[in-house]
Amino acid sequence: MNKPASVREQLDAVVVGAGFSGLYMLYRLRQLGLSVKVFDSAGDVGGTWYWNRYPGARCDIPTTDYTYSFDPELEKEWTWSEKYATQPEILDYLRFVADRHGLRSDIEFSTSVTSARWDEQEKRWRITTGRGKEIRCRYYIMATGCLSIPKPPDIEGAGRFAGQVYFTSRWPHEGADFTGQRVAVIGTGSSGIQSIPLIARQASRLTVFQRTANFSIPAHNGPAPADRLKRLGEDRDGYRHAARWSRGGIPIEPTDVLGVTASEAVRRERFEAAWAQGELFGILNVFADQGVNPASNDIVAEMIREKIRSIVKDPGTAEALCPKDHYFGTKRPCLDTGYFETYNLPHVLLVDLRKQPIISITEEGIETPDESFGFDAIVYATGFDAMTGALVAADVAGRDGLSLKEKWATGPSTYLGLMTAGFPNVFMLTGPGSPSVLSNMTVSIEQHVDWVAGCLEDMREERFETIEPTSLAESGWDQHVQDCAAITLHPTANSWYMGANVPGKPRVLLPYIGGVNAYRQACDEVVSQGYLGFRRTGPEGARCRDGVIRRMQPDVAMVLDLVAAMGMPPMDTLSAADARALMAATAAIRPPGPEVGEVTDGVIPVPAGDLPYRLYRPAVPPEGPRPLVVYFHGGGWVLGNLDSDDPLCRDLCQRSGAVVVSVNYRHAPEARFPAAALDAFAAVQWVDANAIELGGIPGQLAVAGWSAGANIATVACQLARDDGGPHISGQVLICPVVDSDMTRLSYQKNGDGYILTTALMRWFWDHYADPADRADPRAAPLHGNLDGLPPTCIVAADFDPLRDEGVAYARALEDVGVPVRLARARGHTHTSVTMVGVVISGAPVRAEIGAALRNFFAVRPTTEQIE
Ligand SMILES: Cc1cc2nc3c(=O)[nH]c(=O)nc-3n(C[C@H](O)[C@H](O)[C@H](O)COP(=O)(O)OP(=O)(O)OC[C@H]3O[C@@H](n4cnc5c(N)ncnc54)[C@H](O)[C@@H]3O)c2cc1C
Repeated sequence: MNKPASVREQLDAVVVGAGFSGLYMLYRLRQLGLSVKVFDSAGDVGGTWYWNRYPGARCDIPTTDYTYSFDPELEKEWTWSEKYATQPEILDYLRFVADRHGLRSDIEFSTSVTSARWDEQEKRWRITTGRGKEIRCRYYIMATGCLSIPKPPDIEGAGRFAGQVYFTSRWPHEGADFTGQRVAVIGTGSSGIQSIPLIARQASRLTVFQRTANFSIPAHNGPAPADRLKRLGEDRDGYRHAARWSRGGIPIEPTDVLGVTASEAVRRERFEAAWAQGELFGILNVFADQGVNPASNDIVAEMIREKIRSIVKDPGTAEALCPKDHYFGTKRPCLDTGYFETYNLPHVLLVDLRKQPIISITEEGIETPDESFGFDAIVYATGFDAMTGALVAADVAGRDGLSLKEKWATGPSTYLGLMTAGFPNVFMLTGPGSPSVLSNMTVSIEQHVDWVAGCLEDMREERFETIEPTSLAESGWDQHVQDCAAITLHPTANSWYMGANVPGKPRVLLPYIGGVNAYRQACDEVVSQGYLGFRRTGPEGARCRDGVIRRMQPDVAMVLDLVAAMGMPPMDTLSAADARALMAATAAIRPPGPEVGEVTDGVIPVPAGDLPYRLYRPAVPPEGPRPLVVYFHGGGWVLGNLDSDDPLCRDLCQRSGAVVVSVNYRHAPEARFPAAALDAFAAVQWVDANAIELGGIPGQLAVAGWSAGANIATVACQLARDDGGPHISGQVLICPVVDSDMTRLSYQKNGDGYILTTALMRWFWDHYADPADRADPRAAPLHGNLDGLPPTCIVAADFDPLRDEGVAYARALEDVGVPVRLARARGHTHTSVTMVGVVISGAPVRAEIGAALRNFFAVRPTTEQIE
């Protein structure tokens, strides 16, 4: 049988989608001299702007920025008429771009791509179209769009309605005339909010059915902003460069004002300025902490609710329009023109589906438990199966026939949001795991396209035919994407960002929230490290440098960047007095830590003199005595005091429910080894002896410490065992110093660049102990007798030079039968776990410490043990 002619079509690349992404991809692939064909089920170019023709459809990023930047001449030839251009104007623009670069000749419109199969033998994709064509290609590029698959309405009886039905995302080209009609709009996301005021102008009656109230601010549309035009006119390249290296794809100055600490006047002023400006990234930047701190977020959210209440005259309607079930920004906020004002019109009614759900759609209209509504037209503004919908729907099956749908059944998994293991040579533009819908997408699209084009060029030069991420690199990136999400408020929302609008879709934050700039940096580094995490194959063999591009917690990396930017002198170059002053200065500007019930200061009389202590009592019931934790601060036996670890002690107290007694001990070089260790033991003895006076439960005493504080805490345990008491229920050792050997792998890997350096550890040891003393178990407890030590929780941080000695101590304790809980502080440094209120990703580790402490005290010791 003869094969149809089209089957023989062989191309270098197939691109699906002719929106912003597909058009630019085609342009770049042609520049590389590759044979390419683009397919789109739409009848013309435009993607989003081809399909979404509903009244009021506009972009929500100023068009000065929501535009291509790859062609400076294009920017001279095209002028946007408004701050936020309408859909017809954006569509005209994309048509203009297509014509200017003669792109249409390689695009087949009104043609869906129905499947793609990987042919391992040929190392090619077999692509099938809805018109029965089969194409073989080396590279398959999915520019299928993040918001291109409409979510069908999941409402009983949706097919029965006899009147006109419209979907905002599939609006008829000839438009719709609602003059004199009774119209229903279902959905109050961005499309609903944009279209409702315009539909209300024509309809005789408009009824809006709202499931979730959404935050919206006035767009204040008008001419393109003069300040932006001026900046662009003066230095286009600089402006575009700043956008590419900004957090959201628009060059704005990120604020450092914290909502929780700003004065009322500052809060109001910043909010009103953002409200008046009418820009998404402005209102998302009122406070630096509004995306991560619920208290700060509430301030902005409440100010928006105040505005809604002041606009909407009917108090009941105003209240229903006030969003209360999600933090501001965790769902995409909307920009509107007269949205809330529309509800003051006598013929506009809001139905709150939370109170009055739709029972069914009938032939005549919509039925709720309280009322039957008759309509001439129903408009569905019910959103999209975002980010993964179009990718999965395109039926891609990779190596071994595994489909993308099957692979992503529990959530998408990608490397850089660009590729996924098992699908060689498939590139996704703005895929899940990339900034995409959280950014100005034109900037993200250009970055993805440029990266793919660069990658294909490199492959050609290096004679590779296939590229595919490794599973290690991919799972590392997935982890990083979720780590970035976890420190924000986003996962708390039932948003389409989280896949929550589609029944059965796994709940994960789909886009990468670490920022356009951080993301670009990661993509660039992958390339500069020889395509780290990718396996490339060709006739001359394979090359793979396996690894994970981002292992550090995102907020820890931010702290390191900040510290580097401060340009402080290395501690090990200072005198002890200057180092102490520097540490006190940095401690003074950090958040205070959580509230506890009571904080009192006192002194412990020990043979060497009085040791100051600070006692933290938990706030929560029950009243009465609590277990006691004696805590020793970090600081290499040289630095630190009761203030330095105050936020951590509050946190420990709150999480453990114990009374925490933080003890200041003598420091080196004034008091060298073994002064600190002996003070620690004496303090433990005194706290035990005075348990009742301190509000503790006799016999329920644990020790805890961080770094050098953990060193003397565990030495105190060894001394207590040898001395026959006191009984210690458990020890928590956070990133402990337990050995003076600095040759372990973690010293080699983490000894520079992560605040605690090898040089600083040497400085600490030199101040504390003579070389001859450094193997003494009271200095290096790893070398002591570990038999009979109490149950232990050890925290070992990935990027800590002391990591491996902490792990070695855990193993050695286990070997002698001590129950050990080794808490791995993934992606953390020596200092970051203790940064309460600064490093949010440390909270789960501190929760583990709290749980360990509670566990130590869960079993009451017997009388025999107490004695
Ligand atoms: C109403 C609306 C307003 C928006 N406003 C903004 C904004 O202001 N700023 C911003 O940054 N982003 C905005 N977005 C997001 C917008 O989607 C992107 O900015 C951008 O247009 C995406 O371009 P794209 O080419 O990647 O995808 P799309 O424009 O979605 O194009 C994808 C194309 O792929 C085609 N396709 C998909 N699957 C197949 C298949 N199997 N076979 C054939 N063809 C297929 C589709 O038909 C579609 O034409 C908005 C989105 C919507 C819906």
